[in-house]
Amino acid sequence: VHERRLAENGGAGLATTLSSDSGWDNSIDYYIKKQLRVWCRHQNGQWELGKIQSAVRGKASVTLLDGTAMAVSTGELLPANSEILDGVDNLVELGYLNEPSVLCNLQYRYHRDVIYTMAGPVLLAINPFKDALIFGSNVIMAYREKILDSPHVYTLADTAYSDMMRDGLNRSIIISGESGAGKSVTAKLAIEYLVEVGGDNSEIASRIRESGFILEAFGNAKTSRNKNSSRFGKLIDINYDAKGILRGACIHTLLLEKSRISQLSRSERSYHVFYQMCAGAPSDMRDKLNLRMASEYKFLNQSGCLKVHDVDDAHNFEKLMEAMDALRIPHEDQERVFKLLAAILWLGNISFEVTDHENHVTVVIDEASRSAARLLGCKMNDLTVALTTHKNETLMLQQAIDTRDSLAKFVYTSLFSWLVETINRSLEGDKKLTGRFISILDTYGFESLQKNSFEQLLINYADERLYQHFIRHLFKLEQEEYELEGIDWKKVEFVDNQCCLDLFEKKHVGLLSTLDEVSNDSEATNLTFVNKLKQRLSSTLQLIDEKGAFRVHHYAGEVQYESTGFLEKNTDTLQSDTTLFLSSCCKNFLIDELTSLDLGKQTVGTKFKGQLFKLIQRLENSKPHFIQCIRPNAKQLPGMYEKDTVLQQLRCNGVLEAVKMSKSRYPTRMTHQEFANKFGCLLADNTRCQDSLSTSIAILQQYRVLPEMYQLGFTKIYFRADQVSALEKLRQQV
Ligand code: ATP
Repeated sequence: VHERRLAENGGAGLATTLSSDSGWDNSIDYYIKKQLRVWCRHQNGQWELGKIQSAVRGKASVTLLDGTAMAVSTGELLPANSEILDGVDNLVELGYLNEPSVLCNLQYRYHRDVIYTMAGPVLLAINPFKDALIFGSNVIMAYREKILDSPHVYTLADTAYSDMMRDGLNRSIIISGESGAGKSVTAKLAIEYLVEVGGDNSEIASRIRESGFILEAFGNAKTSRNKNSSRFGKLIDINYDAKGILRGACIHTLLLEKSRISQLSRSERSYHVFYQMCAGAPSDMRDKLNLRMASEYKFLNQSGCLKVHDVDDAHNFEKLMEAMDALRIPHEDQERVFKLLAAILWLGNISFEVTDHENHVTVVIDEASRSAARLLGCKMNDLTVALTTHKNETLMLQQAIDTRDSLAKFVYTSLFSWLVETINRSLEGDKKLTGRFISILDTYGFESLQKNSFEQLLINYADERLYQHFIRHLFKLEQEEYELEGIDWKKVEFVDNQCCLDLFEKKHVGLLSTLDEVSNDSEATNLTFVNKLKQRLSSTLQLIDEKGAFRVHHYAGEVQYESTGFLEKNTDTLQSDTTLFLSSCCKNFLIDELTSLDLGKQTVGTKFKGQLFKLIQRLENSKPHFIQCIRPNAKQLPGMYEKDTVLQQLRCNGVLEAVKMSKSRYPTRMTHQEFANKFGCLLADNTRCQDSLSTSIAILQQYRVLPEMYQLGFTKIYFRADQVSALEKLRQQV
């Protein structure tokens, strides 16, 4: 999937992209004379440290650190940083920012259990897959009191909090990375810190912690890549008053993957809560819900995976009940929730009997259908009618199965929305939330599976939008300003994914609009959709076969999607008679969620886009801090650092470009007027000038600020890091 990026990088990856800026400072002869370290590429593509002994006509003889001699072309050599720079805290400090230097720096730290490294303004977090013993209250305190200040999610959270307190502006912490890279754990740690520094409000603090556990139970599942994968996106706003005291929180979610309720891939599980309930429900609850073990439910046993190594579902059920109590969810509502969960499981066991040669069906009356009807709170006959008829016509087998599965999915997603609303009411504290916020974003990351469907398309679309947010804030806005101000600036190149976003979002002809248009046409099939795509988007999207597979060039790699099922998943409305049926059985419970089903005739794609835009809007109203999580190996094992796996992620996420940007940017800036007003006092009266630009120049000259340390733009003056602090000190002495 990374072929495209590789091609863009000239086929040789990072080394090529970066070597132009961080190539040899001196000739190879200099490296021979001084016996400086170099990187030498093996035939297998791996880089090793060595020293050049001689070089003639493009061929070099190199001694590797273990004493082995090697003959290579000089094109296979790259300069290495000196030993003093081994394992630096911030990649900006590396003199050479080539591929092996960066990889090695991260590896050096990782093997010493240092999982965090700054990459310019971005915090890199490499998943340790073990307890790293660098978390908890004492460590939080040490970071809070600045006894520790090394790169850490706590340092970043502390900066966000302190900056917010200083200027009163909202902050956001945006966490990205592939599935299993550690986003949710990192988000949890950031929240832990932000709750702790908010002091004093232990009730809300404990509710925020417990709400995380509930959402995990209902929104996370074991997948092939992560045993605790979030199957929804979330943004959590932590709210403070003017004194910085924690006041409350609010959670915004993004599309829960609902197909998981009825369909599981091999060795994956459905949402944790089902297994927790089946394993841990006390006997009176088991009786009330007619609850069996997970292995007896089709929705759970179809994938051949019921247990997760090292996870105690029964114990987690106890924790879930405690968490619900901590959030003051009334017992009556808790009972309703578990009743509906059990109803979903029994719905999955309902089977149908074919009654005529046209494949029309009726519901088999057995334990499954009886239990489902009882738990849903309806008459058996009403359930049968809801599952097997539409507008008084009897359904055929597949239609009835689809109706049953849709019903189960709708009950679950309604329950999930209800839960988020209920949690939010509990986290709101006594009053409506106003004041300052720090928002933490943890969404699903880029996915490229063996078979990719509508769910992956939406997940990868969200990932594209967030990447655009990242590059906008780290590259675009700043470089545009430099250009407008006319300063001398060598543009930092980065991969702009605007073209891919246009593919999705273009009005009328984009992928999402086309999908909606076709979804509204009752005669259309997935091939109609794919053919329309072909007409409209052939320049940015590649069609693969007549069955409707197509490829999209995402910034993070190329993904092939199978269009089968796209239209159904996009439309995904319950038939109005099924909605009516549901409303009648749920009585007052879930009433808002079910009403919104009726009102919400929007397609899933459009709804998702709307939710995503709202989320980005919230982020745009805050100053961002970025964390990039990295998965060091695909096996989820501790201590295993696979260079290729890390490299693939670094190539895609734009982090190294951010380091380059950070090296060359001018972080301090003010208008000529502001600068002249602030530092004019440093000039003797007779050297003061009329206009602010001349005053600024006079100050810079008098205090011999080196020309490479600043730039004069049309309206502003720009400084490299730490340049203004020297003038600031002088000013304080005047
Ligand atoms: P997804 O996108 O699938 O939700 P994710 O990026 O949120 O994945 P996590 O669920 O946060 O990934 O992490 C996966 C697993 O990695 C965790 O269950 C945990 O075992 C381990 N892990 C992640 N970060 C850390 C950490 N800082 N310390 C210890 N273990 C960690």
